[in-house]
Amino acid sequence: MNEKKFSILKKIFFYIESYGCQMNISDTEIVISILLKNGFFFTENLKIANIILLNSCSIRNKVEITIKNRLQRLKYLKKEKPTLFGILGCLSNSMKKKFSNSDLIDFTIGPDFYKKIPSIIRLSMEGKKTFHNTFLDKKETYSNIDPFRKKNKITSFLSITRGCDNMCTFCIVPFTRGREKSRDPYSIIKECENLYQKGFKEVTLLGQNVDSYLWFGSDGFKKTIYKKIYTENKKIIDFSNLLDLLAVEIPFMRIRFSTSNPHDMSPKVIETISKHSNICKHIHLPVQSGSNKILKLMNRKYTREKYLFLIKKIRSIIPECSISHDIMTGFCNEDEKDHQQTISLMNEVKYNYGYMFSYSPRPGTYSYKKLKDNVPEFIKKKRLKEIIDLQKNHSIFQMKKYIGKIQEVLIEGESKKNNQYWYGRNTQNIVIVFPKKTYKIGETVFIKIIDCTSATLIGKEQEK
Ligand code: SF4
Repeated sequence: MNEKKFSILKKIFFYIESYGCQMNISDTEIVISILLKNGFFFTENLKIANIILLNSCSIRNKVEITIKNRLQRLKYLKKEKPTLFGILGCLSNSMKKKFSNSDLIDFTIGPDFYKKIPSIIRLSMEGKKTFHNTFLDKKETYSNIDPFRKKNKITSFLSITRGCDNMCTFCIVPFTRGREKSRDPYSIIKECENLYQKGFKEVTLLGQNVDSYLWFGSDGFKKTIYKKIYTENKKIIDFSNLLDLLAVEIPFMRIRFSTSNPHDMSPKVIETISKHSNICKHIHLPVQSGSNKILKLMNRKYTREKYLFLIKKIRSIIPECSISHDIMTGFCNEDEKDHQQTISLMNEVKYNYGYMFSYSPRPGTYSYKKLKDNVPEFIKKKRLKEIIDLQKNHSIFQMKKYIGKIQEVLIEGESKKNNQYWYGRNTQNIVIVFPKKTYKIGETVFIKIIDCTSATLIGKEQEK
């Protein structure tokens, strides 16, 4: 039945939506590239798509609900034309269990099996539901795939590690994405060079925990490249070495990275950031809690004191560095004293910005199975509001320091709020808007900051 429906189509169009983190957006680019190479046609128009892919993330419960609602809203498309629904990414495993008996989802594919997606789609077009390939592969890093990137963009993501070995008790990543795998540095450098040649001006190196990047030298790695930097015959490349290599090899490309686990960030990485002007001066350093009791329950492997020491180190070596955070309120057993320790840590650091959430247990994690989600919802909400309000004050405090200063801004596009303004970011990852006069997207300009909100700096072109 399905086979007939699809055999009459001259072209098979696919459409893809990404949910969740930057890693997922980066994975979507890999999937698009694989499908294009295999004869499928990419569309951004849902109405003409025959294959609808939802690339999911399972870090928060909200995404699972969003995906289920989205499927319900899209199911009418199956009646209008031959259409298949596929779930990709971290949620594929749990969705497989919940939907294998429904007509809504035709296939699921886990994050390590995207190379099989063309054959899985073909099987589904023949009416065979394929709810497998959600297990994990110890080696797959997609280093030989050139991800699809939209034209006219100047910033890009590039995954350097996949998975994570840290086993934070609240986190599902080690189970959905598996153990950590680092990608061959040679392929990373080549991809960055390629991006630069295509007109990209900034790349963000991605990984659940970039600081634990580690590559053991092999024949595949061209020693000539790192010999420019390292005189010794280096066999192991760590994250600071990788940053060094990229900064030297692609000197006009801005380099960012995310995310760092405080436990794994080394002084060498901080030194390397300070050494190169093209490595951006911003570190996203999730703390999650200011209480040692809660950090231990979360299995974060650092203490409040070690975290604050790291912040001091960063600020002494790179005084201009901006620092952002993730904080989770209402984790198991968090009492008012623990919450106040988070507040006092925030007051001590005065972050530039941050991402704040309240705890929601994810099935499959240690905290879901072994710890009690015993902080009432209204307390979680109250604490969350307190830290969000505090962060707003700190953001304003940090933003005001820029007023009157000149900032180097890479123009990324028009401001969403006012098309008479350009939008860009400085090295600290702070958004800056300023009135359009001359210049174009992709240019780097010097802007005088004249005002700010808690999230945006407002500037004007520097007089020549
Ligand atoms: S470091 Fe912890 S929170 Fe981050 S991905 Fe790994 S296990 Fe999850």
